[in-house]
Amino acid sequence: MDNVFSEIKSRLAMPEVARFYGLEMNRANMACCPFHDDKTPSLKVYDDHFYCFGCGATGDQTGFVAKLFGLRQIDAAKKISEDFGLGLFDREFAAPIKIAPNPKYEMQKWLGEARQTVKDYLTTLYKWHRDYAPRNQDDEFHPLFVESLQKIDYIEYLQDILTRGSEEDKRDLYENGKADIEKIRKRLDDFDNVQRFEKRKAI
Ligand SMILES: [Zn+2]
Repeated sequence: MDNVFSEIKSRLAMPEVARFYGLEMNRANMACCPFHDDKTPSLKVYDDHFYCFGCGATGDQTGFVAKLFGLRQIDAAKKISEDFGLGLFDREFAAPIKIAPNPKYEMQKWLGEARQTVKDYLTTLYKWHRDYAPRNQDDEFHPLFVESLQKIDYIEYLQDILTRGSEEDKRDLYENGKADIEKIRKRLDDFDNVQRFEKRKAI
């Protein structure tokens, strides 16, 4: 049984495990730490362990999963074995373990995705504002230009919260802003589909 941990270490690299459970790393394998309120990436993912320069959190592959989901080491090992199909416990334990999601982690994950959505939409709005601005005084406003006029302020405000906001503002957005972010995501998806359609027509 004590081989289970070393087995996991030898079969899965730390970055692979971290990525699988939603940690977003930059090219230097630095990430925003899910174990404290981290605004800039201070958690470094090494090949066989992680270390946070902000809060000192550290551990190996199993330790990471244990911390993230609030599990005992052995349960974390079971989860990894199941999620990666390693089959390390197949003979000994038939019953799958139930995981209660870590609410703090859920929020950080949601905020990360929201940040990306808002950034994508804002980039698109700036582009529309530039590309569809009326050239002559009498031109009718293009609908995408109108959308940029209506939305840019609000989306900049959301981006401000998501990048520079206080922990309280972020929590407030997490609790009350889900519908808004969902709408933005849907707007981007719809626009993507239209673009794909237009491209097909052009060919
Ligand atoms: Zn930390």
